[in-house]
Amino acid sequence: MIEGRESINPSALYEKLAPLDHERYTTELCERYAGQIARIMRLKRERRAIVLAHNYQRPEIFEVADFIGDSFELARKAREVGDADVIVFCGVHFMAETAKVFNPERSVLLPDMRAGCSLADSVTAEALAERADELRKIYPDLKVVSYVNCTADVKALSDSCCTSANAVKVVNAIDSGNILFVPDQNLANYVQAHTSKRIISWDGNCYVHHQITPDEVEKARAAVPGLIVIAHPECRKDVIAMADAVLSTSAMMRYAKESPADKFLIVTECGLSDRLLLEVPNKHFYKACKLCRYMKMITLDGVADSLEHLRYAIELEPEVRVGARRALERMLELGA
Ligand code: SF4
Repeated sequence: MIEGRESINPSALYEKLAPLDHERYTTELCERYAGQIARIMRLKRERRAIVLAHNYQRPEIFEVADFIGDSFELARKAREVGDADVIVFCGVHFMAETAKVFNPERSVLLPDMRAGCSLADSVTAEALAERADELRKIYPDLKVVSYVNCTADVKALSDSCCTSANAVKVVNAIDSGNILFVPDQNLANYVQAHTSKRIISWDGNCYVHHQITPDEVEKARAAVPGLIVIAHPECRKDVIAMADAVLSTSAMMRYAKESPADKFLIVTECGLSDRLLLEVPNKHFYKACKLCRYMKMITLDGVADSLEHLRYAIELEPEVRVGARRALERMLELGA
């Protein structure tokens, strides 16, 4: 957090969560999953529901998803869900909020309310308002750009949102030379390296990406000759400096499919490597072996129960929803 400000300690939160199971995909497990998938498909039809899934979800969740993508793609998709009455969001809480922002009349469900985010927890609306007021005394033209990994009330206080895919574009397009960028310090550093504007960063990070070290990348490179290293901009500056390409998760998918290379180290949450293994079986993907506990809170059982009992519904105050929508629409306009 910003110097002198009270911080939320994400580790205190995720230590309370259940440890990840490291299930093997045995025949028995796959048969159980097949039954759950059939139940979900039936409930989807009955509820006129669609399932949106983030790239970091468990592989079996991809089997029931109508659309899989990164947060930018999911934000766009959430605006175009056709005649569905219900959206089940397989991702984390702030993403489900975004779906609700664009679909106030629909029921938006998050199968497990423990699916939060250490990065989103690192900034509150109150702390942001206070910091922005302080900074406007020094930089009267200050604008606030928030990475979409934040709560809806933080988005509502922002001039524009951005994703990792369009952060540089949004910052360069916004009409100010002074930007308070929240909440990811690593993405802020990455943006600063690609703009002449002044970026004032918040002191938040994603615990999954922040724990990846240059040493781990170095060891992988030494062990696998010809390895192409693709890193997410939420990684630390010293890790990004070692990467062959720095890309959002969906850009990683495209890059891996189109590149003539066949060995990649995917430096982001491991779920993306699972998706790559499923969709690009002829190439080799080495994982950073970092799992997001929050993303993995979503299970097939949870999705089925969510559809059965229509739980857990995301609700937003109207002024938060309208403010967040304005900042998200601005992102779609500036970062298109
Ligand atoms: S991977 Fe990081 S940013 Fe994404 S949900 Fe998990 S903690 Fe949040």
